[in-house]
Order: sequence, then C-alpha cells, then structure tokens
Amino acid sequence: MIKKILATFVFLLIAVPAFADVNVITAYPYIKDIAERIGKDKIKVTSLASGNWDPHFIIPKPSLIAKARKADLLIINGGQLEIGWLPQIIRQSNNPNIQSGNKGLLDLSNYVKMMEVPTSVSRSQGDVHPNGNPHFVLDPYNVPKLSKAISEKLSIMDSANSNFYKNNNIAFTKEWMLKLKGWSNKMKPFSGTKVFEYHRLYDYFLARFHLVYDGALEPLPGIPPTAKHLEDLINIAKKDNVKFILQDVYHPKEASKFISEKTGVKVIVMPQDVNAVVEAKDIFSLFDNLVNKITG
Ligand SMILES: [Zn+2]
Repeated sequence: MIKKILATFVFLLIAVPAFADVNVITAYPYIKDIAERIGKDKIKVTSLASGNWDPHFIIPKPSLIAKARKADLLIINGGQLEIGWLPQIIRQSNNPNIQSGNKGLLDLSNYVKMMEVPTSVSRSQGDVHPNGNPHFVLDPYNVPKLSKAISEKLSIMDSANSNFYKNNNIAFTKEWMLKLKGWSNKMKPFSGTKVFEYHRLYDYFLARFHLVYDGALEPLPGIPPTAKHLEDLINIAKKDNVKFILQDVYHPKEASKFISEKTGVKVIVMPQDVNAVVEAKDIFSLFDNLVNKITG
C-alpha cells in the first residue's frame, strides 16, 4: 500500500510541470529559434521584431512594450544593433528584470568577436554600426557560441533544469556542426568570388566562406546610395568581375537593379534573419537558404 502511495506521489511529481515556464523575450526571430531549441517546453519565447523588418529601425509600439513588461529574460543581439529602438522599450516596460545590468538581460554580442570595430570614434562606419558590424549571427561558427550563452543563462534563471538546457545545447551544437560541414563543402567552389552588398549584413558570412566584399551600395552603413556612388560601383563591377549583388529584403531594390542592368551582375535577395524569406523558417533553413542562394 505504502509502495502504491509512493508510486502515485512520484508520478504526480513527474507529471505536474514546474510552477511556471521561463518567460523569454528576444529582440529577433533568430534568437527565438535558438532559445527554443535549448529551452524547449521549459520556456515560453516571443520575438519583438519580425524577420523581414529592418533590424536597426523598429517602431517601439505599445504591443512590444507590453511583451517586454512580462519578461523574465530578454535576449538581445547587442553590438548597438538595437540602439535605435530597444532602450525605449526596456525603459517603458518598467520591468526591473530586464534593465541594464540585471540578471534578466542577456547581450549576445558579449560572446563573439565583432568585425569592423572602428579604431576611433570618427563615425567612419556610419550611423548604424558605431561599434563595429553587429550582424555576427551570419557567421555560422558564431551560432554555437550564442546557443551556449543562452543555455548558461537559462541554467542560472532556472537551475532545477540546468542539465536539460546543457544537454539540449550539446545536441544542438552536434547537429549544427554536422550541417556546417555540408555548407562549407557547398561554398568551397565560391571562394574568392567578389560581391557587392546593399547594406553590410553579410560580411561575417562572406568572411567565413572566403568570398570577397568589393563594395556596398550604401556609401556608409545606414546612408542611402547616391548617383555618383552607383557610377563608381558600376566601374568597379566591370573592372573586378563582381559576381553578385547581395540585396536584403527590406531595403529598396532599385539601386541594385540599376547596377545589374548596367553590368550584368546578378542580384540575389538574401535573408538576414529567420523568417526574412519564407524558406528561412528556422536557424538551419536560414543558412540552407543563404548557401543555396549563392550556390544556385
Ligand atoms: Zn547593419
């Protein structure tokens, strides 16, 4: 009888979930996808931004502030990518958990090495990349660093499930490294290929697979192209045998088309985040899509 009661008690312990899931808010969909792979049913995740929005300029609508109000944990890209919109949301949320310096704020830029970090405060990197290029998630080697940071943070927030988070991260990293091998093999023949970008979103991706950045349609990050700048790019494209213009989904496409018409350089519309294009429905298919767009 005692055994039976004990068995029932143990069953109840297992069957009844923990009193509350960790309520996680992420700045961008790619962070949401990684967090869900680590936290699974132990966390509830909402992304503030949508994947097809300009990640630098998001309107801090009341609905976003309401989401931030209830968060136990806010995970941001960092590196100043959210500087134009997120501070206002954090402030207005009045949520002590996620204020700067508190336990419920995780800044992923602390776990990677940033490219194009200016040596002086000369604004030489333009208005939107003052501390360097914040689009580091597009180096697939950075993704396991981010998933590890998320796993460690969740373990602190919810220590009862720390082994669960740790093991999920190990499994995810293993699967990721396997996929990475495939992407590297597919990209190998494109080593040395010269490309333009509209905005410098893909620098980490290019560097990882040894493609060569040969110019951006924006003269400086965040500054729209001028007619003179486009003429210069047309000359560079002809001289250097530029192969592709990497166009994102949210900037106007006219300038890319104009260069393409004058030079024959192919325009490729590339995602920069999960859900930027329909095919990029998670972090794996985001990279599948980036690689497929280049390799055809
Ligand atoms: Zn940018």
